[in-house]
Amino acid sequence: MIAQMEAQQQQLQACMYQYSRAIYRSIKDLIDPYSDQSTQLASRRAVLEQCEQTMERLAADPHYFAKPDRALFQDIRRYFPITAQAQVAWAVTEGVGAAVQFIEEQLQAGALDGGMARCRATTRKGKPCQRTPLPERDYCPSHQHLERSTLAA
Ligand SMILES: [Zn+2]
Repeated sequence: MIAQMEAQQQQLQACMYQYSRAIYRSIKDLIDPYSDQSTQLASRRAVLEQCEQTMERLAADPHYFAKPDRALFQDIRRYFPITAQAQVAWAVTEGVGAAVQFIEEQLQAGALDGGMARCRATTRKGKPCQRTPLPERDYCPSHQHLERSTLAA
């Protein structure tokens, strides 16, 4: 079971890597074209690194990473000229959006729990409860009554 979770985690990391490369490829040519070669190289490396960090964080903590596209854009915008900012923002929103959608699909399919157990209940809004279940139980404290009814049945 643990090996299976690790394999899923590795697969997710590999997918996230593809998404970060795709974002990087879509914006790398917009990096300040008037700076000298070594500055440009350093900028490219920094942008790639930020893309990868954003994707890693997203994969590790998809529930609590608010507005990842905006966070990434804030981190990399200084490497681009004013004239390219809108295009970069758009590319980042598209790229991160695709990654977020992918992760959400994985979560909905139950393919990954990040090694962490989640309560099996569904909230009133129809979304899966994200709270941590009680030790050795399937439900969190506010949903533990569901477990009792399952056991009784
Ligand atoms: Zn719950």
